[in-house]
Amino acid sequence: MPGFEFFGEAERKEVNDVLDSTVLMRYGFDGMRNGHWKAKELEQELQNRLGVKHAQLTTSGTTALNVALAILGVGAGDEVIMPTFTFVATFESIMNAGATPIVVEIDDTLTLDPAAVEAAITPKTKVVMPVHMCGSMADLDALKAICDQHDLFLLEDACQAYAGTYKGKALGTIGNVGCFSFDYVKTITCGEGGALVMNDDSLAIVADQYTDHGHDHIGNDRGAEEHPYMGYNFRISELNAAVGLAQVRKTDEILSVQRRNKKILKEALATVPEVSFRRLPDEDGDSATFLSFFMPTAALSNKVVDAFKEFGIDGYWNYFNNNWHYIRRWDHLANLKSLFPISDHIKNGMQDLNTMKFPNSDDYISRNISCLIKLSWSRKEVNDRAAKMVDAIKSVL
Ligand SMILES: *Cc1c(COP(=O)(O)O)cnc(C)c1O
Repeated sequence: MPGFEFFGEAERKEVNDVLDSTVLMRYGFDGMRNGHWKAKELEQELQNRLGVKHAQLTTSGTTALNVALAILGVGAGDEVIMPTFTFVATFESIMNAGATPIVVEIDDTLTLDPAAVEAAITPKTKVVMPVHMCGSMADLDALKAICDQHDLFLLEDACQAYAGTYKGKALGTIGNVGCFSFDYVKTITCGEGGALVMNDDSLAIVADQYTDHGHDHIGNDRGAEEHPYMGYNFRISELNAAVGLAQVRKTDEILSVQRRNKKILKEALATVPEVSFRRLPDEDGDSATFLSFFMPTAALSNKVVDAFKEFGIDGYWNYFNNNWHYIRRWDHLANLKSLFPISDHIKNGMQDLNTMKFPNSDDYISRNISCLIKLSWSRKEVNDRAAKMVDAIKSVL
């Protein structure tokens, strides 16, 4: 999965362009920059690649989510529906917006269960935020229909699913706004970086302004620009954008290696009748960064984890016991542990996550094992790995 596995001369060349010009900032200094606009170029590449009208780079996937919520006008008193299984950035960005996270069940896609989303809608709901976890997608037709019917925004967290598609459209481009992360361990990396994408022209204008202190970016005298509203600094540096520019050009190669490696592992595991796989709403659009499978019971999945260790297989997770990605370990959210006071809107509007039960999510996540698909494996390594995984699983049955 991670772009850092495909790293070298191209990245160095792009970064050196920036170092040679000495202009590390994405705006201004036109005369000094030797024609290098790495952030702008990367945005253009993303637009072309994803088939979307606008891409706005940010400092991270987390800040891309922050900006997305801001430009959709989400704030105090608004509710954002999110899944039990995700990365902590989901609720961090919602809380940072001053909005209230409403956590709902996932289904066998490992992302939002549309029925659970529908049941959680209140007059305060403003956004539904599916998170395309582990390289594959939520049931976007169903979620989009719900959003259309209830006049809600669909915000896709595609941070883990860059280059995946759903029915021919790039993940992240189907909702009102989509977000990507280019942190060090993502499909392509900037070191640190992120982007939000959208087709709406007016949203794109405010995204560009909001990420740069609300500068209106009109004219060519930065100091004299107007500020139609308050913004913040979420600007990516040219150095980070330069790395991403080299990486984005490797997208097709990364995707094809991932898909080839995943296919071998999946076909091998499919020979074990007790193994079932995560449902992929569009199998052809899977970015193939992970192979996620279910064992019939949580006890068996724990045994498989132990067997993988014994057999020397690395790079897999059972998220039920992982403190980052599943609600079970979000004590700091459940207990509202914050460095600063939290608004009454959130205090009074939050679910009681200490007592609330998510039996379906518990079932899916406790039975799930997700294996990272690496780019650097040789074909022999993948074949050996597939055989070893099958042996390890069979050893516990
Ligand atoms: C990585 C990730 C983020 C946050 O991205 P950063 O660039 O690390 O801030 C958000 N959501 C998901 C699902 C992620 O995997």
